[in-house]
Amino acid sequence: MTTGLGTVLISEGEIRRRIAEIGRQISKDYAGRTVTLVGILKGSFMFLADVIRAISLETPVEVDFMSVSSYGDATTTSGTVHIEKDLGISIDGKDVIIVEDIVDTGLTLLHVYNILSARGARSLRVATLLEKPGKSRYDRPLDYVGFKIPNKFVVGFGLDYAQRYRNLPDIRVLDDEA
Ligand code: 5GP
Repeated sequence: MTTGLGTVLISEGEIRRRIAEIGRQISKDYAGRTVTLVGILKGSFMFLADVIRAISLETPVEVDFMSVSSYGDATTTSGTVHIEKDLGISIDGKDVIIVEDIVDTGLTLLHVYNILSARGARSLRVATLLEKPGKSRYDRPLDYVGFKIPNKFVVGFGLDYAQRYRNLPDIRVLDDEA
């Protein structure tokens, strides 16, 4: 059995249009303020690169990245994340948006949110390109969501399978082919 790419779930055009809307919304919500985007590596890099260009030049934007790995699984309450790459800037007193590729169980986001909120951000919101149905571990609202998708494993637009397929310009369901 080899692993193959299935049909396109979300096309390039749909992604482009939705990110433009999110950029407009962020520009409106943060008018007159500086917004700090914190991308969670690696999957969010493409979404972040497009969102930042969709934010009005009248809204100053700062960017930094963080990389975390999860230990423990979604069925335990003791799962923690290890920070593999931390931020290089202080977020104390800043208006921060965590930028995620996909929220599945919500465990990664829960930990990142807790870490960043302990660092004195003035406000903390979340933008995710994709949301799966079962995000039971994160009970705050997701402020900016690109698309809600079914509970399938997807790749493309920054998301990988074993480090592959991040360069696909659209989002596809990964299936198993005989
Ligand atoms: P969570 O902690 O919300 O369960 O998982 C979030 C992380 O799991 C994402 O940042 C991503 O790395 C990975 N993940 C969850 N679902 C998918 C998926 O459908 N495709 C890919 N490529 N990664 C996923």
